Amino acid sequence: MNPVDYLRVSLIDRCNFRCTYCMPEGQDLEFVQRQDLLTDAELLTLLRDVFIPLGFTKFRLTGGEPLIRPGVVDLIQQIAHLPGLSDLSMTTNAYLLADLAPGLYEAGLRRINISLDSLDPEVFRQITGRNHWQRVWQGILAAHAAGFNPLKLNVVVIPGVNDTEVLDLAALTLERDWHVRFIEFMPIGNAELFEHKGWVDSETLRQRIRERWGLIESAVRGNGPADIFQIPGAQGTLGFISQMSECFCDRCNRMRLSADGWLRPCLLNETGQLDLRQALRKEQDLTEVRSAVAELLRLKPEINFKARDRGTDTNYSRTMVQIGG
Ligand code: SAM
Ligand code: SF4
Repeated sequence: MNPVDYLRVSLIDRCNFRCTYCMPEGQDLEFVQRQDLLTDAELLTLLRDVFIPLGFTKFRLTGGEPLIRPGVVDLIQQIAHLPGLSDLSMTTNAYLLADLAPGLYEAGLRRINISLDSLDPEVFRQITGRNHWQRVWQGILAAHAAGFNPLKLNVVVIPGVNDTEVLDLAALTLERDWHVRFIEFMPIGNAELFEHKGWVDSETLRQRIRERWGLIESAVRGNGPADIFQIPGAQGTLGFISQMSECFCDRCNRMRLSADGWLRPCLLNETGQLDLRQALRKEQDLTEVRSAVAELLRLKPEINFKARDRGTDTNYSRTMVQIGG
């Protein structure tokens, strides 16, 4: 069992894209109202006085689209300087990165994962509902120029939509020191698309890449769920996140904090969530809040969605953006 030292923090549940696999256009979503979002001060209090003392040292900012949170650069600057924090990263769709990348780097952010599901602007438009491929590509280049290293690109692979691009996306790592990570498509908030398209497992993708260039398994293992490989002689690496075909609950090192302050011990199991916003606003003693989170840490191995639960549940009631993907 890994120590749980990693918190994914949703800064906002809204998004400027409408990816078909995440927040499809027309879906009736209830967004968190402004007054219910954790304020900057509340979030900083939770990180500084609850999570860091309990051994959480790595934080990833996500959403929704984290960069549309008002004042995001200032907030990041304050988070980055919290004593005890060892790693601060962000997952973004990169729409605002061309402008914000240098400021984010200066604020203290050092690692960025960017969603890029296609190299074809038209397929990109079909997936994200936005005609913004060019702008996103500029954002990726700006992040690289600003010094973000390693730069990771996330690809959710959907059969019949972008699976034919797997080799082109993998080829980005040949000449660039980038990490391209293929994520198995999950049935969260997208029942219709999932039912219609299905999903493709990581081993099938690896086989295609192996046939084209060969593939070596990396001795290096990150602290996340990705299995890391490399095309022989390539500058960058390939990651495979196989939460559908593999069960990695036993090495899970994370919890999630939603934009409205719900602490969730497992992505797929709704048991045990704690309402930390309520606790803060009722001025509950922080020692009690810490004890409640410590108790949840103790219970997490039992709460984790395991192989035993697979097959019993195929769709989940909260979407990625509500949970903090
Ligand atoms: N807006 C940011 C972005 O797109 O990178 C951050 C939030 S997004 C919810 C975080 C990650 O979840 C992205 O890498 C996205 O591709 C992934 N994701 C969303 N829905 C998914 C699904 N149904 N299956 C697998 N991954 C998904
Ligand atoms: Fe927005 Fe990211 Fe979800 Fe796409 S994957 S809709 S960019 S939150």
